[in-house]
Amino acid sequence: MNEATDATADVRNVVIVGSGIAGLSAAVYAARADLEPLVLEGPEPGGQLTLTTDVENYLGFPEGVGGMELIGNGKDQAERFGAEFEHGTVEDAALGDRPFELDLSNGDRLRTRALIVASGASARWVGAENEAELMGYGLSTCATCDGAFHRGDDVLVIGGGDSAMEEALFLAKFADSVTVVHRREELRASEIMADRARDNETIEFRWNTELEALRGSQEEGVTGATLVSHPEGYPLEQAANGADVTRETVDVGGVFYAIGHTPNTDFLAGTAVNRDESGYLHTRTDDAGRATTETAVEGVFAAGDVADPNYQQAITAAGTGSMAALDAEAYLDTLERTTAPALEVSQ
Ligand code: NAP
Repeated sequence: MNEATDATADVRNVVIVGSGIAGLSAAVYAARADLEPLVLEGPEPGGQLTLTTDVENYLGFPEGVGGMELIGNGKDQAERFGAEFEHGTVEDAALGDRPFELDLSNGDRLRTRALIVASGASARWVGAENEAELMGYGLSTCATCDGAFHRGDDVLVIGGGDSAMEEALFLAKFADSVTVVHRREELRASEIMADRARDNETIEFRWNTELEALRGSQEEGVTGATLVSHPEGYPLEQAANGADVTRETVDVGGVFYAIGHTPNTDFLAGTAVNRDESGYLHTRTDDAGRATTETAVEGVFAAGDVADPNYQQAITAAGTGSMAALDAEAYLDTLERTTAPALEVSQ
């Protein structure tokens, strides 16, 4: 954009909310298009991949690549083309007028013509008794971060998806035993991940079982858990409906939640950006019926897990990040074409 035609030089062309792989990919594309993007790193700089060990299915790395390395390289790549990074979390967004206004948790206010929301998703909690008190004290949502504290422990992993398998496999390197607790008797995980977990002698499975309560204290850490089982699965729901369930208290030194994620879109509440009942952003199709990354608000685009309850892969997030930057670039071009004559008249 041409600063000379801009009456308000402090307005950014594009702000990217989130610095996970979707945000970084958007930053590389936007920076290469000379849009000088600003990336707000959010409360978890680098996003979920920084909590992962090896990424084996990202194209171009036959031996796999570390999550940290992939993210670090992506940031270097975006900076090389001129992307700026700032610590900051958006608390509130005013998207009704142009330019958009973003209020950050540090009190700053940013103004931008286009916005790319790539704020990702955060780990969900089970809702077990005592979990708020024990989160970070033996209860964790990140085996890569906290697994090494559990050398020689018996630990539980809650969930039946790829994340649960990944957490269990990682924990099996440290713990004496890892028990995957799943609410039904069929895993949601991909076959390759499920097979690896099944083949690991340190990993056991508790089917049709859920976590009801945690025992322990912030001084001692997690010391035990109450598990509920029902032969038909979903035991907590069964118990709530009055069915007989089996309760068992087990001694464990750690519990890891891996039951999926909730999109980080609270800051968009009250805006015209559409969200589904879980908070995932809707993107619209264009007049020809083709998918775009644009939300219901013109000039606001979504990329990565924040708009994807389905695939949630590193490579799909990177893909939609590039799409969002291309869509933002096209939008800014239109804006420049439509606003330039008006600015000339006022000079
Ligand atoms: P997910 O696939 O949605 O699996 C969540 C699991 O948690 C499901 O088994 C679900 O049970 C269970 N669950 C959900 N809410 C629960 C609750 N309140 N109490 C007990 N259990 C509950 O989530 P994810 O494993 O985080 O994976 C998300 C996406 O990332 C997937 O597309 C996955 O393939 C991808 N991913 C890939 C890799 C990899 O390839 N290396 C690693 C991690 C994640 P139900 O099965 O009964 O619904």
